[in-house]
Amino acid sequence: MNISFDLDSTLIPNGTEFETESRSGIAKLFGIEEIRKGTSELILDLQNKGHKIHIYTTSFRSKRKIRRTLKYYGIKVNRIVNEKENRKILKSRNINSSKFPPAFDFDLHIDDLKGVGIESERFNFKVIIVEPTDKNWIEKIINGIKNVG
Ligand SMILES: [Mg+2]
Repeated sequence: MNISFDLDSTLIPNGTEFETESRSGIAKLFGIEEIRKGTSELILDLQNKGHKIHIYTTSFRSKRKIRRTLKYYGIKVNRIVNEKENRKILKSRNINSSKFPPAFDFDLHIDDLKGVGIESERFNFKVIIVEPTDKNWIEKIINGIKNVG
């Protein structure tokens, strides 16, 4: 399955909303962002199960910057869609939704926003909503994927 992850408040914290992997001072200096504890293991596990992992964010970070941060934590993803690309594609298809994963062939999207959950019902795509404070977020994703797949 093609699975996409949101970044902000899903994998990258807004403040101290969840525990993060350790990051060196130098990495911080070079703009490597913090990442949610368990992210590397989860993504590797999903990839080992044959899933393709992608990033789908409505932030304007460059793809290069996102790739660099992920690489620091040993994460390789297939495709990165940022807001610049998202807007362009959704506009060209006349889709009035903040996100629409099927436009990028993503079968399942993981996000923190309830609004995306509402959009998923309106526009008929599959989503798993995980709250930033959810300590069992990995379990929720693994079980959610089983139910979809
Ligand atoms: Mg988010």
